[in-house]
Amino acid sequence: MYDPEKGTRSLYDLHLHTCWSYDALATVTELFDGAAEAGVRYIAVTDHHVIDSVPEAKSVAAGHPDVAYIPAGELTVHCSIGAVDMVCLGFTDAAIDALADVWDVYHQWQCEYGASLCAGMQAAGFDYTDAHREELLASYRTPEALSIQGMTHVANKIQRAYFIERGFIDSDAEYGQVLSAAGQEVRRPSYPSTEFVLPRVKSQGALVIIAHPTRYFLEDNRERMDLLREELLLDGVECAHSGVPEHLTPVYRAYCEEHGLVSSGGTDLHWSEDVRDKIGTHIGPDEWWTEIAGRLPEGVIVNG
Ligand SMILES: [Zn+2]
Repeated sequence: MYDPEKGTRSLYDLHLHTCWSYDALATVTELFDGAAEAGVRYIAVTDHHVIDSVPEAKSVAAGHPDVAYIPAGELTVHCSIGAVDMVCLGFTDAAIDALADVWDVYHQWQCEYGASLCAGMQAAGFDYTDAHREELLASYRTPEALSIQGMTHVANKIQRAYFIERGFIDSDAEYGQVLSAAGQEVRRPSYPSTEFVLPRVKSQGALVIIAHPTRYFLEDNRERMDLLREELLLDGVECAHSGVPEHLTPVYRAYCEEHGLVSSGGTDLHWSEDVRDKIGTHIGPDEWWTEIAGRLPEGVIVNG
């Protein structure tokens, strides 16, 4: 278990991003090296909307027998309350093949979203073209990710700095306003729907876990929790995450126990410089892993 005083980390970290996510730069190798060094035994790579990191992660895992790896993804879906991030854990090779239509929809969504933002910015009077976006993407994304995912949207952190540099905004605080002005001009596409994504994912045996749920749950509003448990076909809740205040972790855990859901924990790392210090630093106890492992599809854990 994570204990900053003893310097120990959690047994597992089930929410991690790599440079296969449009908004992350940590590499697959950095995550495996960081996990091995910190004694984190189980990791799930949960890139945004894609499972494109799986081949690389499997090959890196072969050189890290002490780190077990769970193929996974963080799929954002559109539901009755808007967009909700879902950590989907445990994609077998057969599941990845069977879900080709889901991956296609997300790849296309990322490109359409990026294009609609550029179109909206131009309509709002800013010189932000697809060529500018392409240049920005090429400045930080890997050629491999670009070749599979194409012209996606740009990480907010990078796009915000660019907007300041170009004089579109004067400060970070104005970023949200300029994005909503662009959205008024050209509507950005909604995320793929809950009804399309989640039944397909579940039919392949992957666990569907609501990520950092505090905002979605309106802290601990029972009515909202029940609504989302049913609508999002929840198998679990990410009870331990830096976005979940510590006093709510036991509240969410009790809710999981009441409804037969698993409880997950992860750090949501995105950046290389955070890997060493942060991997496995969530407060989920080690027992939660045993429950999750018991519900993952047979054979899905690499080095398990
Ligand atoms: Zn995430």
